Amino acid sequence: CGIIGYIGKREVAPILIDGLKRMEYRGYDSAGVAMINGKKELDIRKRKGRVSVVASEVEADHFSAHVGIGHTRWATHGGVTDTNAHPHVSSCGRFIMVHNGIIENYENMRSFLISKGYTFKSETDSEALVNLIAYHFDERTKDYNEDRFLEAVRKALLHVEGTYGIAVISPLFPNEIIAARKGSPLIIGIGNGEHFIASDVSGFSGRAKNVIYLEDGQVASITKDDCDILTIGKQQVECVIKEIDWEM
Ligand code: GLU
Repeated sequence: CGIIGYIGKREVAPILIDGLKRMEYRGYDSAGVAMINGKKELDIRKRKGRVSVVASEVEADHFSAHVGIGHTRWATHGGVTDTNAHPHVSSCGRFIMVHNGIIENYENMRSFLISKGYTFKSETDSEALVNLIAYHFDERTKDYNEDRFLEAVRKALLHVEGTYGIAVISPLFPNEIIAARKGSPLIIGIGNGEHFIASDVSGFSGRAKNVIYLEDGQVASITKDDCDILTIGKQQVECVIKEIDWEM
């Protein structure tokens, strides 16, 4: 239902929690965050219920990191449980994703991936996509020297039927967030040596004046200083930067 993401120099935890709270009005049943620190360690907290439940766990962790993603869930596939809450992690723990929308062909994806040895923890449609990203990373981008993370996500998305706004992080690529959308909004906020991602501008209101509205069928590689956007079909996209007047 709601997506938030941040990469930059500030502590990420308060930015994620604050963003989720600002988007609470959209309605949701679970919330969660995932962060990666400079040692490529991962911290994930996700719970059914209020953002405040996750927020107090995250505060107790004192996990210092500058890259992370967060989500408020409105369950469509799988009950309202801690396990079904986002972020979801691929079988070997290498990719972590939040997803808004519905992966319509997730059952086919899931049985294909199980036949390849992937394991599943949740009942969600979303977990099939994060594992498909891991599959494409291993099988279809092995000999890539650059853009391997972006390409694994892009290639996986070519097989998705349905709708998505996603943000993906990986301990293998601790300085990058991949975001994409089709039928579910995603906005990139541009700061000074930092980027924000949100499904609703209210998620980072007041923190970034310049924004890029990702369009359907686009995928972005976002680092603290750069934002590179392609179509799912691998065409380079000219970014259109818009200015937001927060006073309005
Ligand atoms: N289909 C996903 C789920 O049920 C995402 C729902 C959402 O957009 O919050 O977990």
